[in-house]
Amino acid sequence: MKEVIDRTLSICPKCFKRIPAIFYEEENVVYIEKICPEHGMFKDIYWSDAQLYKKFNSYEYISSVKVTHRETEKGCPYDCGLCPNHKTPTVLANIDLTNRCNLNCPICFANAGKTGVVYEPSFQEVKRMMEILRSEIPPTPAIQFAGGEPTLREDLFHIIELAKEMGFLHTQLATNGLKLKNREYVRKLKEVGLSTIYLQFDGISERPYLIARGRNLLPFKMKVIENCRDVGFNSVVLVPTLVKGVNDGEVGDIIRYGIKNFDVIRGVNFQPVSFTGRIEEEKRLEGRITIPDFIRLVEEQTHGEISREDFYPVPVVAPISLFVENILDRKKPVLGSHQHCGVSTYVFVEDGKMIPFPRFFDVEGFLELIKEKNEELIEGKKSKIRSVLDLSLSILKLIDRDRAPKSINVKTLANFIVDILRGSYTSLVKLHHSVLMIGCMHFMDPYNFDIRRCERCCIHYALPDGRVIPFCTFNTIHRPLMFKGQSCSGEKDNN
Ligand code: SF4
Ligand code: SF4
Repeated sequence: MKEVIDRTLSICPKCFKRIPAIFYEEENVVYIEKICPEHGMFKDIYWSDAQLYKKFNSYEYISSVKVTHRETEKGCPYDCGLCPNHKTPTVLANIDLTNRCNLNCPICFANAGKTGVVYEPSFQEVKRMMEILRSEIPPTPAIQFAGGEPTLREDLFHIIELAKEMGFLHTQLATNGLKLKNREYVRKLKEVGLSTIYLQFDGISERPYLIARGRNLLPFKMKVIENCRDVGFNSVVLVPTLVKGVNDGEVGDIIRYGIKNFDVIRGVNFQPVSFTGRIEEEKRLEGRITIPDFIRLVEEQTHGEISREDFYPVPVVAPISLFVENILDRKKPVLGSHQHCGVSTYVFVEDGKMIPFPRFFDVEGFLELIKEKNEELIEGKKSKIRSVLDLSLSILKLIDRDRAPKSINVKTLANFIVDILRGSYTSLVKLHHSVLMIGCMHFMDPYNFDIRRCERCCIHYALPDGRVIPFCTFNTIHRPLMFKGQSCSGEKDNN
């Protein structure tokens, strides 16, 4: 039985015009369906687990903080941005340093080098984009240099140095890793203060590379990890693009590879492949991997060491950020993405075994506690000192000592959490170095596009013309038009 459970605005995958869409449930699967008056009906699997879809709705967070660079003109998603309708400040900003690449991957969403136009902002333009991001209130804390392949830029080291000088707390490099097979290059990245290498990493066998990237890149990837170890760079996040029939059978092995190289690898962030261009419905329904599919793959392939209950949606951390804001009396960028955009969990590693954080820490109890403390602070019922003290006493009770890894000191862990709640970025970084993050973000494409997710996106692109554009909106609508020399009106037939 088809039951409509939600409604939104989406776009027609053919002409990009804004059209209404429904979400309906059938046999515990959530589908998105929309009809373009000109191009007909489009249907896709949105979430393959309706129960989880509904459960995650309870983590919804809508920020009241606005960052605006442009006026409203035609409505979302054509006014980026950011326009006054946008509901989340920039948490992670992307700057594409070039669209040139030293690979030519069939599945590249940046479409590097395929447009026939070279996009490469000058050093001054990059500087100006970073100034805009730092002038936002609250200032953008994290920046990722991407492309194309950003290591093709000769001035990359200067750009990273400049980002640090400008106050970005976190600098990240999204790379295919080819250049990083040179150990001295990695050493230099460390020296200039790069925080994290976000390494494209499709699997631990040759097959995914041969299919998705056109050549076996596995030896290069392993060399990058080895080089990082040699020079003492210990913050690599593996980024597999998840494609059905290509590497969906390697999810567990990739995680285990992360565990094995835990001294260097901080996380694995899976990204189910997005569909661009005209793709027949049958092919899409067959090839679509949604977040619940990813969770199922993790559960199956880690033999339950990590399970469905261990994953939480991105905005779960919003109440924690709000508490920090209340304590510091300062606006902080909150991870306020839509609850259906991404999930993550953190695992401790003990004797090569994974122990997910939620197995021994009462996450729900913690969230309740934080919400209560936030209310008390807002209503002025308790002082800041009292609230932090109350939390220090209560947090210990949320940790199940019998199930916690034996190697961690429960009191030290509780103190770390309290320090983070007081706004200590150093403690946050330290905590990240004692766990492995396993996450998944499902970027949207024109078929599963939901405007509510665009409006709340916290991952943005900065452009030389001063616009700051939410990630999925950029890759789906604005990037293709940019290379056609048009700006998006939503009125044109773009074929
Ligand atoms: S995605 Fe955000 S910035 Fe872009 S038009 Fe929509 S609300 Fe405005
Ligand atoms: S990039 Fe896309 S999937 Fe990620 S938070 Fe933004 S809208 Fe959601």
